Amino acid sequence: MTSTTPRIAIIGGGPGGLICARVLQRHGIPVTVFDRDAYAEDRPQGGTLDMQEDTGQAALRAAGLEEEFAAVARPEGQEMRLLDHTGTLLFQRRPAPGEQRNPEIDRGELRRLLLDSLAPGTVRWGRYLRTLHPLGDGSHKAEFDGGAAETFDLVIGADGAWSRVRPLLSEHAPHYSGVTFVETGFGDADTRHPAVAQLVGDGSMMAAHDNKALIAQRNSRGRIRVYAAFRGSQDWALEHGVNLTDPEAVRAALLKRFTGWDDRLLALLRDADGGFVNRPLYALPVPHSWTHTPGLTLLGDAAHLMTPFSGMGANLAMLDGCELAQSLLRHAELDEAVRAYETAMLPRAARAAEGAARGLDNAIAPDAPQGSLRHLHSR
Ligand SMILES: Cc1cc2nc3c(=O)[nH]c(=O)nc-3n(C[C@H](O)[C@H](O)[C@H](O)COP(=O)(O)OP(=O)(O)OC[C@H]3O[C@@H](n4cnc5c(N)ncnc54)[C@H](O)[C@@H]3O)c2cc1C
Repeated sequence: MTSTTPRIAIIGGGPGGLICARVLQRHGIPVTVFDRDAYAEDRPQGGTLDMQEDTGQAALRAAGLEEEFAAVARPEGQEMRLLDHTGTLLFQRRPAPGEQRNPEIDRGELRRLLLDSLAPGTVRWGRYLRTLHPLGDGSHKAEFDGGAAETFDLVIGADGAWSRVRPLLSEHAPHYSGVTFVETGFGDADTRHPAVAQLVGDGSMMAAHDNKALIAQRNSRGRIRVYAAFRGSQDWALEHGVNLTDPEAVRAALLKRFTGWDDRLLALLRDADGGFVNRPLYALPVPHSWTHTPGLTLLGDAAHLMTPFSGMGANLAMLDGCELAQSLLRHAELDEAVRAYETAMLPRAARAAEGAARGLDNAIAPDAPQGSLRHLHSR
């Protein structure tokens, strides 16, 4: 990079933004991350992520964090089970001893690991990006809620699905995928809900039928996270008079929707001790692209939001972040670096997003679980 140190801002301290900052900082490039959260543990970080060998894990290696990852990763979480709605097990895959293709890590643990790798003060918490003003020379003035403003030579939008950076590059916004997840779960499942723990196993389990699925995943410390997935309107609760803030009303509505399913599967909803969180799934159009613009770029969900059926969102965000940082280290000019990164990233993201769309169509389908079964047998 040029002898004058560029002013680099990363908007968003998710997996993509944080690993980008880590790789830059590790090689002596100053960077500031801005996140809307008031502090690191402000919001629950959600479920478990599988870190794939050639994407998420490759990024962690480039960041020098493979040992830290190995210390908290759960290789046993690679187990996968597929059932039909009668509870019949159709497919089961257990990891071989020592297999490290895609061990699981809780999102919260991943965030902590990445934050601990950064110099103190790198992340400025409580900074919600409101607007960006182009200053005409490739730099941008970033304005944050509360009135703070700063100018940067490069602004990296790592601010997730509802990015405030993306509208400066692209006219596209995420659209509803047609599928909603309602999330719930169990704490201390092995002791308090042994039958559920046994059903789910050490990794992930999906039971699917008639445009619906129940998905359950082990998290660390005995927690099991459950997603009731179904095709339908994103206003399903409003249309059925279900108050989303009333857990018992949501539970009853879900049990009705899954009527006829085996009782062991229904226990995932009936006995869940977490609340219920409505999560309509959104995606950006495929392919999503933009005209290269000096001083700005996107990574991760901000660039290529896809449904979780790719299983790759966080993995790609981390690979993007790592490769963008490496490109900035390799090229003399900021703009050349960003162009090279976008040239490699955009087609890769488009391929993954096509896979995610296919995965969703296979998994939540009228003939489910046949599509998922074919997919699992083809791997
Ligand atoms: C139910 C579910 C299951 C999933 N499972 C998997 C899986 O198994 N494997 C996988 O790889 N992926 C999975 N994903 C996808 C994965 O969670 C995302 O792709 C990944 O988190 C994207 O990372 P990111 O860094 O791009 O954005 P995010 O993780 O969304 O981080 C964005 C950050 O930006 C901050 N922010 C947002 N707006 C602003 C603003 N205006 N100003 C400042 N800060 C801002 C936010 O606070 C946040 O910290 C799943 C997603 C869902 C919904």
